[in-house]
Amino acid sequence: MAETVIAGTPELPPGPDPERQAAAQRYGRLQRRAYLLELLTGAGAALAWWLAGGGRAVAEATPGPTPAVAVVAALALGGAYALATVPFDWYRGHLLPRRFKLSVQPLRGWLAQRAKAAAVAGPLGLGVVAFTYWALGAFPNYWWLMVAALLFGASVLLTVLSPVLLMPLFFRMTPLPEGAVRRRLLDLAERLGMPAGGVYVIHLGARTTATNAAVMGLGRTRRIVLGDTLLDRYTMEEIEAVMAHELGHHLRGDIPRSVAFQGALALASLGLLHPAWRGVAKPLGLEGLDDPAGLPVLALLSGGLGLLLSPLEKGYNRWVEAAADRFALRCTGEPRAFISMLARLHDQNLSEARPPRWAELLFWDHPPYYRRVAEGQRQLAAPGPA
Ligand SMILES: [Zn+2]
Repeated sequence: MAETVIAGTPELPPGPDPERQAAAQRYGRLQRRAYLLELLTGAGAALAWWLAGGGRAVAEATPGPTPAVAVVAALALGGAYALATVPFDWYRGHLLPRRFKLSVQPLRGWLAQRAKAAAVAGPLGLGVVAFTYWALGAFPNYWWLMVAALLFGASVLLTVLSPVLLMPLFFRMTPLPEGAVRRRLLDLAERLGMPAGGVYVIHLGARTTATNAAVMGLGRTRRIVLGDTLLDRYTMEEIEAVMAHELGHHLRGDIPRSVAFQGALALASLGLLHPAWRGVAKPLGLEGLDDPAGLPVLALLSGGLGLLLSPLEKGYNRWVEAAADRFALRCTGEPRAFISMLARLHDQNLSEARPPRWAELLFWDHPPYYRRVAEGQRQLAAPGPA
């Protein structure tokens, strides 16, 4: 179907609200400042624990095989770390979002959620510590390859299980109810050659005023989830733009590719950790690579390497997100809805439309508003075949 488009400067849908954006900048600045302080405090706590001989004291007081001693040493170190960083955790995760009216969750709910998160992540982390110390002792040359393989396997498993086992621990998810939205979205999915069904509502509204949408799972657990805080305040065309973006992730295989990318990054990081650990273990007076007394230093090194490599992961994510945006624009042919959806989304989530460049490079998982909207404007100026 041909449509004549008059050349010139097409009128743009309204951008983000200046008042909300001023708040978004304040919120972003306070969040970043607190995050950097938390990072320094956490690293300081681990260093202090090491310098005060905490690692050695726990290792000597604990009987048993090395991996078990390492687990006890990790619990002690984790306790010191948690004590030092808990004020930042509370400030960034509860107080600030409450103050900016993003969170509507009472303190009790936030605490319960943190406890659940710790109950899930804690045993997994301790399992990795035990395996790492076993591998360090049994295969001092290849331990890093084995740990990378373990992390990769765990990440595949967690991705498969997340929509059916993990997410339900934290959020209620229900199939998208019958109605106009469901019909339009299933039409869109079918048009794109996707199996129908598999669209869920994630109930965020009891907890936050912000919204989100995602594609999650692998294989048979794959599903698209849309926040209830999205469905109740966006136009049909805007919801379709979000859905098309998520379908883009689906069709391009972004989840398996992300799992593979993260696996490669973990391998690179462990490949760097191995020579570094070999280099410092003896000068630090450790009795071997697998001496649990050295855990605080091993944790600091691996944390530092992870931090160093994290901009690569963020950059990869932004690249994937930009591609899903282009896909959404191509398949809906609705750049106006795409642009107004982005403005609404950034205002709602108090997300900066134009963050400082350094923050964009270090922290942003999506391209910021000004980049995403530029893509929509390009299509608005010169619409291609839909
Ligand atoms: Zn996305």
